[in-house]
Amino acid sequence: MVTPADASVAAGSKFEPVIGLEVHVQILTESKIFCSCSTRFGAPPNTNVCPVCLGMPGALPVLNRKAVEFAVLAAMALNCRVNQTSIFARKNYFYPDLPKGYQISQYDKPLAEFGFIEVPSGEGRKKIGITRIHLEEDAGKSLHEGFADSDEKTAIDLNRTGVPLIEIVSEPDIASPDEAYEYLTRLKEIILYTGVSDCNMEEGSLRCDANVSVRPPGQKEFGTKTEIKNVNSFRFIREALEYEISRQIEVLTSGGKIKQETRLYNANEGKTYAMRSKEQAHDYRYFPEPDLLPLIVDETWKSEIARSLPELPEARRARIVRDYGITDYDAQVLTVSKSLADQFESAARAARNPKRVANLVQSELMGRLKTKGVDIEHSPISVKGVAESADLVESGAISGKMLKDFYDLCFQRGKDFGEVYQQEGRPRQSTDTSALEKVIDEIIAASPKQLEQYRAGKTSLIGFFVGQVMKASKGQANPKLVNELLASKLEP
Ligand code: ADP
Ligand code: MG
Ligand code: ZN
Repeated sequence: MVTPADASVAAGSKFEPVIGLEVHVQILTESKIFCSCSTRFGAPPNTNVCPVCLGMPGALPVLNRKAVEFAVLAAMALNCRVNQTSIFARKNYFYPDLPKGYQISQYDKPLAEFGFIEVPSGEGRKKIGITRIHLEEDAGKSLHEGFADSDEKTAIDLNRTGVPLIEIVSEPDIASPDEAYEYLTRLKEIILYTGVSDCNMEEGSLRCDANVSVRPPGQKEFGTKTEIKNVNSFRFIREALEYEISRQIEVLTSGGKIKQETRLYNANEGKTYAMRSKEQAHDYRYFPEPDLLPLIVDETWKSEIARSLPELPEARRARIVRDYGITDYDAQVLTVSKSLADQFESAARAARNPKRVANLVQSELMGRLKTKGVDIEHSPISVKGVAESADLVESGAISGKMLKDFYDLCFQRGKDFGEVYQQEGRPRQSTDTSALEKVIDEIIAASPKQLEQYRAGKTSLIGFFVGQVMKASKGQANPKLVNELLASKLEP
């Protein structure tokens, strides 16, 4: 059997892979692309349908403006040139879940072209070209399972027919399965930041077909490619590519030829299997859709859409590193999603020391999340909670050890830091003012030099006194109260 390890060895010597990806992304409109049916996932079968998406004779499509806006937004985020005029085309083929007998897509005049995504590569970065992004409608779903009486039956659910998709086609610029994985990760991240799709792979909102061929290094012409379809996770795509590359290399080294075909990946076995030989593009007999006008996105509309383009992940990461003085790695963790980055920034802006917030996320939060198998988006302790705890450590109100205990309690109880601190920490602290006053008096008495300087105007020394008091109280004192009491006692 050929294993992925063989692939890298062989690729290093006699062949190099060439990979291009086609990614379908469902865009988050409420209604379908050419009718007003709902796009909601999980509705009972065949309830979100109408004459248009059922392909009844005489029913006419009307383009959904929001779908165009989302598609343009995605295209802009992926550095594409948006064509002022694009043309819808019929892609003709027969399939049981395609009631019209054709899919409305775009062909030689797509919505957008000439984009790219940057991926890390070695020490630097590499641009992977995006050939085109076009708008199209989804097909229905064939359900082969769940029949008690027979496994020969197939049911058709047409709720998905007419749901808007964008197809993002990459140039064959991807040089390894790892790079393909990286490209997909960046792509998903960017799309999520724009809010154009939820990219939920389980629900089919993001689907990827991977095209791959191999050639001797230095050869300009591409080898014959195969296309791997219906792989449902980025990890499996990487594995499928690894397998497929070694398979192709083995076929070629033993004197065989690669057939241009579509293959399926079986994740349990880690192998790809031939499914059907690839139709040539002209088999689809594309022609311009006569029921729709050319789509025109003029400059005014384009700049209106551009206004809702958010700061994108890479730019945001770079800025966060600059603004808060944290490491690239921390910035990476804190910007995995837009909502997390938003949370971090609002917490960090309010915190005394944003760097400590980032450090605590790394040193105290991530490990606990990992142990629990929870991702940071579902952490019991929010970034705001981390910021609160950071401030308490910063002021000396709690020690690092106490912080760890609080975090453990938060995870045990599934509660945020603020709430647990309130329950556990606050009451014990704030009750005993007289004991606290005694401690403060002692410390002031033991620090005549600092007292003199403070009274001479060096009021920043209050920090010194607060620190001493907090230390003496083993972090149990309420910092606000300490500050208040000190301020009044330090006055001459
Ligand atoms: P098809 O007509 O078979 O769909 P396309 O030219 O539209 O082929 O390309 C589909 C995808 O396959 C694109 O992402 C492209 O970059 C990639 N691709 C094209 N030729 C090759 C090749 N020889 N090896 C690997 N990928 C390829
Ligand atoms: Mg194709
Ligand atoms: Zn409909």
